[in-house]
Amino acid sequence: MVIAVYPGTFDPPTFGHMDIIVRAASLVDELTVGIYENPGKQPLFSLEERVSLVQEAIAGLSNVQVRAFKGLTVDFIHEMGGRVMIRGLRANSDFEREFEMALMNRKLAPDIELLCLMTSSQYQFLSSTLIKEVAKLGGCLEGMVPNHVAAALRDKFPVHGELAIGKGKM
Ligand code: ADP
Repeated sequence: MVIAVYPGTFDPPTFGHMDIIVRAASLVDELTVGIYENPGKQPLFSLEERVSLVQEAIAGLSNVQVRAFKGLTVDFIHEMGGRVMIRGLRANSDFEREFEMALMNRKLAPDIELLCLMTSSQYQFLSSTLIKEVAKLGGCLEGMVPNHVAAALRDKFPVHGELAIGKGKM
C-alpha cells in the first residue's frame, strides 16, 4: 500500500496543481493533499479557504483527501502513515529549491522518498503567484484555475474581477 502526500501552499489551487494531483493519484493507493499554513508567504486565502478550494477541486477523485497541517512536512507525512512526498517541477528554479529541500528532508526523515512529477507543458507557466497578479489586474483566468477558484478570486478582487473574469482580457 503506497500512501503519498502532496504538500504545498495552494494559494489558490491551479490547474497545474490539479494535473499533479490527478497524475500522482493514479500512481499511489492513497494521496493526501497537505495544505500548510505558511504565514511567511502571507497567503491571500485563509487556511480554511484553501482547504475548501482544494476539496471542491478533487471531488470525484476517490483516493485523494485534503488535510491542513502545521510544522514539519516530514512529520505530517509520518502522521499520515506515508513514505512518499509528491512535488511538481516547472523549471530549473523549482529543481534547485526542491533539491535543497529534499536533502534537508532526507536528513530529517531518511525513510521518506521524494517523487517529483514534471509539469505538463501547458501548465509550465502557471503559478499561484501569477494567478493572483492576473486576477488583481482583471485578466481572464480561463483554463488556468477551476471555475470555483476563479469565483473565489473574483470575491477577493471584486472590481477588476467582475469586469474581466470570464469575459476575455481587459
Ligand atoms: P509551495 O509554497 O510549497 O511552493 P505551491 O502551492 O506554490 O506551494 O506549490 C506546491 C507544489 O506544486 C510545488 O511542488 C510546486 O512546484 C508545484 N506546482 C505549482 N504549480 C505547478 C504547475 N503549474 N505545474 C507543476 N507543478 C506545480
